[in-house]
Amino acid sequence: MCVFCKIVNKELPAKVVYEDDLVMAFYDINPQAPVHILIVPKEHIPTVNDLEEKHKELIGHIFLVARKIAQDMGFAEKGYRILINCNRDGGQEIYHIHYHLFAGKPLGPMICK
Ligand code: AMP
Ligand code: ZN
Repeated sequence: MCVFCKIVNKELPAKVVYEDDLVMAFYDINPQAPVHILIVPKEHIPTVNDLEEKHKELIGHIFLVARKIAQDMGFAEKGYRILINCNRDGGQEIYHIHYHLFAGKPLGPMICK
């Protein structure tokens, strides 16, 4: 079972900030910004390439969860960044789709060269 499935199944600890039937959100173990949260679907979907029509609602739901977290944690107005890596060139390390949610400072240019 992958690391994020273990977190979803509560077999591995995580600092959970949000959970519902479809998704879980928790703090990244190696934060790259003052706020760095990962939002993961409970379903094991390896990469964006594996998304199917049936996932449409889930994907929309994850954005609404990101918006809710941003509002609840008070950084919605200042701003934030949502990022998804896919496969090797995208820098994906864990092959269970996750949305990075960064906030807490001006986040700089979109891509580091
Ligand atoms: P990615 O490179 O997009 O696959 O991102 C994987 C992210 O998962 C990295 O930012 C890691 O720091 C984070 N990560 C890895 N293991 C854990 C864990 N057990 N709990 C929380 N975050 C993790
Ligand atoms: Zn998984």
